[in-house]
Amino acid sequence: MGVVALALSHRIMVSRFFTKPFTFHIFSFYSSSSSSPPPIRVALTDYAGRAVFATRPIAAGDTIHTAKPAVCHPATNTVCYSCLATLPNSQPQRLPFCSQLCHQTSKAYYDVEMKANWVAFDDYCRTRGLKYPFLVKRLACMVISGVARSDSLDILQPANLMHEMVLEMEEEFALLRNALTKALIADEHIAFLTKQWYINVLARIRINAFRIELAGGLYGDLLSQAVASVEAEAAVGNAVYILPSFYNHECDPNAHIVWIDNADAKLKALRDIDEGEELRICYIDASLDRDVRRELLLRGFGFQCNCSRCLHGD
Ligand SMILES: [Zn+2]
Ligand SMILES: [Zn+2]
Repeated sequence: MGVVALALSHRIMVSRFFTKPFTFHIFSFYSSSSSSPPPIRVALTDYAGRAVFATRPIAAGDTIHTAKPAVCHPATNTVCYSCLATLPNSQPQRLPFCSQLCHQTSKAYYDVEMKANWVAFDDYCRTRGLKYPFLVKRLACMVISGVARSDSLDILQPANLMHEMVLEMEEEFALLRNALTKALIADEHIAFLTKQWYINVLARIRINAFRIELAGGLYGDLLSQAVASVEAEAAVGNAVYILPSFYNHECDPNAHIVWIDNADAKLKALRDIDEGEELRICYIDASLDRDVRRELLLRGFGFQCNCSRCLHGD
């Protein structure tokens, strides 16, 4: 997610950390349906790289902002290709879209994807339980169709990849590139699709992808959301976001992400938040034991968690 540098102490007054110029524009990263800018700012800190701070008090339960995925991919054919909303099951679906709007939004890259034969790539990934290459495949189709830039995820923190991981990716990359080349997609449209591009994108997806579970009708309050999220295998897909990826981790977070009907993420306050307070989410299941949490964070995200819960042995 946002930061893989060592997260040191977190309950520190934040003002002294606004030391470096920070110039990118967060406003392109949140959902355009928002009527006003979200009450947050992203700043560089000395202790944990990029971090998200409240610019005004936020009440428990409030939606802080929403975010559209930069790229998403369904894990099942029962959800929309474009937004991961559940498809109506009353009639057989000719096209995997929940609405005309989703069809229009995604038509260009859907058509690119449909031109190619994905059997070899899909089989390779499915038999190995790999889900992130599907996000790279989607992004590649988006870039080819002109709706996304090839460097659109570069702003995110990449995972540190071991040499063996890079070797594994070579086969996936070859299968992806092969499928698109055989589909007779013009060379100039896939010039970006190099092994280095594939590795760079996957390195970012690995630590920034969210597993999406829809709360749907269950969503009413934070408690029912908690119940919904512990149901096993409820995932409808995976997605990568820009702004939500800048939130740092804490095992006792003050914010969390929920998905109601589709892949649009809602960042919600779990408790009352003061102006200037850093907003943090929990990257993993917060109900796990301390040692399990720390092991997951170290292996999955590359940092040692020294949040107050971990330091107090909770
Ligand atoms: Zn849709
Ligand atoms: Zn912790």
